[in-house]
Amino acid sequence: MELQYVSTRDASEVVSASQAILKGLANGGGLYVPTRIPQLEVSLQELSTMTYQQVAYEVMKLFLTDFTKEELQTCIARAYDDKFDTEEIAPMVYADGAYYLELFHGSTIAFKDMALSILPHLMITSARKNQVKNDIVILTATSGDTGKAALAGFAGVEGTKIIVFYPKDGVSPIQKKQMVTQAGDNTLVVGINGNFDQAQTGVKKMFADEALAEELEATGYQFSSANSINIGRLVPQIVYYVYAYSRLLANERIADGEQINVVVPTGNFGNILAAFYAKNMGLPIDKLICASNENKVLFDFFQTGVYDKNREFVLTNSPSMDILISSNLERLIYRIAGEDAAKNKDLMQQLTSEGKYEITPQMKEQLADFYGNYTNEEETAEVIRDLYEKTGYVIDTHTAVASGVYNKYKKATGDDKATVIASTASPFKFARSVMGAIDDAYLEMEDFALVDKLSEIANVTVPKAVEEIRTAEIRHKTICEVDEMPQVVRNFLK
Ligand SMILES: *Cc1c(COP(=O)(O)O)cnc(C)c1O
Repeated sequence: MELQYVSTRDASEVVSASQAILKGLANGGGLYVPTRIPQLEVSLQELSTMTYQQVAYEVMKLFLTDFTKEELQTCIARAYDDKFDTEEIAPMVYADGAYYLELFHGSTIAFKDMALSILPHLMITSARKNQVKNDIVILTATSGDTGKAALAGFAGVEGTKIIVFYPKDGVSPIQKKQMVTQAGDNTLVVGINGNFDQAQTGVKKMFADEALAEELEATGYQFSSANSINIGRLVPQIVYYVYAYSRLLANERIADGEQINVVVPTGNFGNILAAFYAKNMGLPIDKLICASNENKVLFDFFQTGVYDKNREFVLTNSPSMDILISSNLERLIYRIAGEDAAKNKDLMQQLTSEGKYEITPQMKEQLADFYGNYTNEEETAEVIRDLYEKTGYVIDTHTAVASGVYNKYKKATGDDKATVIASTASPFKFARSVMGAIDDAYLEMEDFALVDKLSEIANVTVPKAVEEIRTAEIRHKTICEVDEMPQVVRNFLK
């Protein structure tokens, strides 16, 4: 039976998987969710003998039921190839009592590659299936990692254009350099005078702008989204949790069916939502541990049942988690609201008008599988230093937030289940913060000297993605105000 997708804000808006991938956002601003969560069809034992690509097929076929076997396998083969620097695709490293699932071995050394290397292929296949003749214009707001990963995924893909907006002062120097050096005639990278939430709101407005859509249609274009709201992003992220479990089983670190915990450094709530879906597919996950930095809206939400974005926005050393509106949380809210679109819509409207909402006690009860906590900047740095001094293993700032929250969780509960920490970026991507945490004497050094030093102390080769930008030329210099975003798009598509 074909699995359908429904809008979280309108029960009458039901589409196929390929249509949901093409559209990204539902009409009226809702997000597409599957009408049921499919159950794994193969045993954990069988999964433990499979490659990453095979696990990906077993998981994704259950969600993308209108793709043929051949289509899906082709997408998977094109995505998870030698763009990754290891055949395992997502290797696991055990250090100081936890398993670090390294999701940063793709072309931009951050976890967003896991989904964005396959999204262009899913999208082109979806377009073909739905007789779409227009070129697809990918519009993305990024707090750093999404932008480059999306650019890398879509650059040069025929029938697509990609426009990325980033907060001018809200991304790391290396992240910025990675983006503004992007090659490809179909790419545009724009800095905005504003923060990530403003960039994201600006992009959402353009998606909802019907006049703009008509204008584009007339010139042979249509928008789609590569942001983590697209189910074509979400579904590939479920894969690596299943894969991680299968590796633990294959390596006899756990028994068949034994429960594990998962810790996720969280911003937009996409990665941890994928873990929640994996759990609901039957993967033996106990706690979903949601780690925040000082922008701890989610921690407060899990504590109180009140989601309140009315607070100061803090710029931290884990910038990809500097987010006050976690867009993907809406999918969880919809679910704990009993899949009631009207109820969810009401809460989301409160978020827009008042900047906050409160869930009911019955809804809050359904969050028992989640544990939320956060670390401040000092704690995050301490985690990096401690782990390095104890084990020699170097983690990035985002992963360190997760690791610090896991330490707090263990201390609070005594729970010693095998635990997988999603390691979302290579330390090379945030070399300055990472090295500064280990020893602030390193801060005297230039960016690339730091990179070389990091390579030396961690005993890890400098990743290709970093080597490439040492000398690359800057191609994108556009900076604009938030309200100029639509004009920038028009100019590019002219
Ligand atoms: C995007 C990102 C996150 C946050 O993931 P979400 O799915 O938005 O919650 C965490 N760490 C890094 C390095 C990221 O790029």
